[in-house]
Order: sequence, then structure tokens, then C-alpha cells
Amino acid sequence: MRLTVKNLSFSYPGKDVLKNVDFNSNHKEFLCVLGPNGSGKSTLVKCIEGLLPTQNDCIFLDNKSITNLNRVEKAKLIGYVSQNNEQLFADTVFDTVLMGRKPYYSWHSSDKDIEVTANVIRHLELEDLAMRPFNELSGGQQQRVIIARALAQEPKLLLLDEPTSALDISHQLEVMEILKNLVKTHDISVIMVIHDLNMASRYADNLVLMKDGMIHSQGSANEILTEENLALVYGVEAEIYCHSGVVSVSPIKRIPSRNKLN
Ligand code: ADP
Repeated sequence: MRLTVKNLSFSYPGKDVLKNVDFNSNHKEFLCVLGPNGSGKSTLVKCIEGLLPTQNDCIFLDNKSITNLNRVEKAKLIGYVSQNNEQLFADTVFDTVLMGRKPYYSWHSSDKDIEVTANVIRHLELEDLAMRPFNELSGGQQQRVIIARALAQEPKLLLLDEPTSALDISHQLEVMEILKNLVKTHDISVIMVIHDLNMASRYADNLVLMKDGMIHSQGSANEILTEENLALVYGVEAEIYCHSGVVSVSPIKRIPSRNKLN
């Protein structure tokens, strides 16, 4: 499903954050959103998901405006994995993933809901954990369950806000591989906010770089992860390498006059 964001602006009380944001993500694309702290990445995904209100007709899926869809209609199209998953579910892994089917049933889950839940659990290799309480799992396992819950919604677009930030390097790679594989094998597009430029470069099809509530640039890792962009957007001097076609960034030092903490 193709996402188009057109001229999206958003303000919190007394603070303008997103300013005329325009960008697209393509069908079955894995897109990573990058940018310094406070540049508006989380606000952007919350606006797309509908957690924050937006003006009419600025977010489109396959050219149809989604602004006026209700929560249930939206939940069937868009899954969201937020930054904070500290709400600890006492439920089993199976029941936690089944919660993702909520947009499809009102009281009792159907055979189809159980089947989709079981399939997602199998796909994310969670079978051995299915009957364990969610809150007894490790951080990496919990993150897989949270992603599984979002996938049980059968969304066409999956939004994730820094899903790897609390994970060790092996579990970070695991989550990135799951998402990359998902885009290959399923009818789904993924948009992920991430700080790790090298992970984004290795796994994403395309990158969006944000600065001060605006899209600074969008394109391939080659186009986006340049010394000039890193200096301008992050205020950081970095060396850029390319090994076997994968661009990698090695930060050298901050450029004091340009560096600001939000
Ligand atoms: P990022 O995800 O890039 O770090 P955010 O979207 O979280 O950026 O924040 C963008 C700006 O909006 C920041 O200056 C932040 O302080 C501000 N902000 C975020 N959430 C709120 C809120 N609930 N109320 C007021 N300002 C907020």
C-alpha cells in the first residue's frame, strides 16, 4: 500500500512541530525515518497512525484520504508499535497477540482470529513461548510479541517507533531481519523510526531524513547518508564508507556550532 503524506503540519499547544511535511512510501517498501532528537519523527508516525489529530486530507493510502476513517477502519490498515511497551500484560503470549485481532471482533474471537494469531506466532517463531506470560519474557522476546500483535491486525502499513532501541545487537538484527523478511513475503509496507544509521542503511529500501519538523531529504542510503547531510542535520562530522554495496557511517566528532540538543 502506498502512503502519501501531503502538506502535513502539526502543533502541540504552544509548539509547532511538523511543518508542511511531504513524503511517500511505496507498496512493499521498508522505509526508515531518521533525524536528530526532537526533529518530529515520533510526532509524524503518531499523526499517520491517527493518535494525533491532523487537518483533513493530508494522509492518503493508495490515494484515498484516511483522515476520516474511524479507529477500527484505520486499525485494519495501519499497525503501530510504539516506543513505550512498558505496559506489562499478565496475559499469555497467545492472548497478547490475539489482542491484535480486536478490530475484527466485538466480543468473542472467531476461528479466523485464532488462525491468524497462530499463523503470526508461527511466523515470528514464538510457538515455544505461546503459553508463557508476556511479562516474564526478555526484552527481545517481548518486542517480537509486540510486533506479532501488530501483525495480527493484518495491517497494510506497519509503523514502528524505535523498536530496537532497548535491544542488544543480536536482537536488533533479529527485529530488522523479521521486518525485512515481512516486506518480502507479505503484502505490507513498513515505516520505522530508528536512530541507528548503519542498521537503517543495511536493511531499509529507502530513508527519510527529518530536521526541525521538516523532511530534509528522502532517498537511498547512498543519497541520504552523506558527509554533508550528517553535518547539516546532526551537526556531526562523519566518514562514510561503502562495503559490498552497503553504506556505513563512522561518526568522528561533533561540529560545536551546529550541534543543538532538543
Ligand atoms: P523525535 O521523535 O524526532 O525525537 P518528537 O516527535 O518526539 O521528536 O518531538 C518533536 C518535538 O515536539 C520536540 O521538541 C518535543 O519536545 C515536542 N513534543 C513531543 N511530544 C510533545 C507533547 N506531548 N507536548 C508538547 N510537546 C511535545
